[in-house]
Parts: sequence; structure tokens; C-alpha cells
Amino acid sequence: MRKSEICLKCSNNQLLHVGAVADTGRSDKEMRPMLLALMIMGYGSEQLTRAGQLTAVVCRKCGYTEFYVADPESITPDGKYVHEIGGPGPSIIDLPSAGCWHMTLNWGAQHDSLSLDYVKP
Ligand SMILES: [Zn+2]
Repeated sequence: MRKSEICLKCSNNQLLHVGAVADTGRSDKEMRPMLLALMIMGYGSEQLTRAGQLTAVVCRKCGYTEFYVADPESITPDGKYVHEIGGPGPSIIDLPSAGCWHMTLNWGAQHDSLSLDYVKP
């Protein structure tokens, strides 16, 4: 919706970009930008921090809202509250010929292997 500038629900093209979603503390006077992620800061401690400032695109007709994180690089996996899913590996693998293949995958410090019975499409 942010790129198309058209509401996904009602096709209206009058949208609002909200650069900071309001978050409050115990009173409205404690306003601050809302952050998405709670993360453990550092190693071996339980100090918590927050990151990932939320922005939003709102349809002025139906109110449908999409949220985005303005700074996704600020969110780092901590193994407790934030986990990385997926990975840098290829999502499509094409092999040179049909047959049984054994593959070893390496990315960063991680390794995996798999065996495939590959049939040409
Ligand atoms: Zn709409």
C-alpha cells in the first residue's frame, strides 16, 4: 500500500503516512514514538531495550492500516524475544541434471546439508 498508494481493501487513493505511531507512558504527557521490538541488550545480562520505530499508512476512507518499521536494521535477534526466520540461502535451487544430489550449505558461521532426489520439471 505504501508503494502502490492505493488501499488494499477499498482501492481508495487517499492515504495518510504516519511517520511516528504514538506511544504513551502512564499519562498522555509521556508521548514518544512507538517501537516494535523488545530485545535483550548485550550478552549474559537481562537488560532490555526497545527498537524499531513504527510508521503507518492509513486509508482515509476505510481506516485500513499497514504498519512498517522505519529502521528495521535496528532490530537484532537476541534469541529470546527476537528470532530470525528464513535465511540468506537461495529459495530456488536448479541442478544441472536429474538424479540424487547431496548438498552442503554454508552461510556465515552456519552449516547444513541435504539430500535431494531431483527430477527435472
Ligand atoms: Zn481503504
